[in-house]
Amino acid sequence: MLKVDEQWLSDITYQVNCTDTLLKEEGFTRLGFSKEEEKAIQQFTEISTNVGLHTRSDEAGNVIARWEGASPDEAPIAIGSHLDTVKHGGGFDGAAGVICALSAIKTLKDNGFTPSVPIEVICFRSEESSRFGVSTIGSKAMSGRLDMDAIKDIKDEHGTTVQKAVEEVGLTWSDFEKAERSESDLKQFIELHIEQGTRIEKAGASFGIARAIACPVRLSIKLLGKAGHTGTTPMDNRRDALCVAAPLISYVSEEASRRSVTNEYPVVATVSTLTVEPNVMTVIPDTVHLGIDIRSVDDELKRELAEDIKKKMNSLANESNVECQIETLVDDDSVFLDPETLKKVKQVGEGLGYKGFDMESGAGHDIMNMAHKWPTAMLFIPCKDGVSHHPSEYATEGDMVMGAEILAHYLKNEA
Ligand SMILES: [Zn+2]
Repeated sequence: MLKVDEQWLSDITYQVNCTDTLLKEEGFTRLGFSKEEEKAIQQFTEISTNVGLHTRSDEAGNVIARWEGASPDEAPIAIGSHLDTVKHGGGFDGAAGVICALSAIKTLKDNGFTPSVPIEVICFRSEESSRFGVSTIGSKAMSGRLDMDAIKDIKDEHGTTVQKAVEEVGLTWSDFEKAERSESDLKQFIELHIEQGTRIEKAGASFGIARAIACPVRLSIKLLGKAGHTGTTPMDNRRDALCVAAPLISYVSEEASRRSVTNEYPVVATVSTLTVEPNVMTVIPDTVHLGIDIRSVDDELKRELAEDIKKKMNSLANESNVECQIETLVDDDSVFLDPETLKKVKQVGEGLGYKGFDMESGAGHDIMNMAHKWPTAMLFIPCKDGVSHHPSEYATEGDMVMGAEILAHYLKNEA
């Protein structure tokens, strides 16, 4: 059995996070294409070079650390994730995948292994949507799924556009698309990530295998009632937009719970944004905006719920004489990963004595872009109390070691 150097893994966990403490009150803020993300990537490059990998940055700023092995002309097996974070996020979302990947390489090297095909560790750029509202920019570019015109003028909260941010870190916007790789360029891609939930623990398992990534349907609803004095407008003469929104909020949550019990795959639905106008103590709300995010890997189930939410909204609005406008902002198909590759990763983990759990991913990841072009598998390790996108996000050293161990053994079999 291959033994992971636990001290080294621990050391590089601090190094890529550029920190000496992983649990900081303010957490980590390494937004996509920021100086902070750059700094973490520099650490990644330094560690990769130290373990004898050859690193290069592609036109989209993704960094690829490569181990040529015995047949450099063969298509490589790639593993990896991202190093950017949300605002005040943790040191493991994304980073865990990069750290475990590097640690797997170090483990194989320590054991004198030489791969017969090249191995790459990929560190994707700007995975999180927290800066620009656009997620997985680096992996979209690598898999050829980026709509450059659609994103170039999107601004962050300081007014910096995507194009400007990209150029500020030394990349050339007009070359960005050249980061796309062809199908024959990679053999397969494996991403390890923290679970960001508690399903693995609840199932009594040690690691998760994500069969599919649930992509959302997003609805934007605008309700238009009539403002009036809260003291002088009688109850039977009101068109209160918030009173129409209230039962819908309960409906969304109750219906998602109910349908999750009766279907093979769960569906989750959330009224995640709500604005009330004029939001004044003495005025009846006349305008309410609701944002609803609905996800399931069962696309039919998710779309059925979205349609029922629209119907319910229309009927509630009609009853109260409130105008209702509904827009579907996003309606993406879920992404299924490669059953064969998933099976092999799970077998490796279970062969090492860890219990695997088949699940889905409710969150998006770089792998959903890669899966459109290459065979892919996603491996989840637990994170404490399921907390993520928060300063207290944490994965234990034991779980990180397990992740590195599974990746190392998988690479040993496959490469
Ligand atoms: Zn992530």
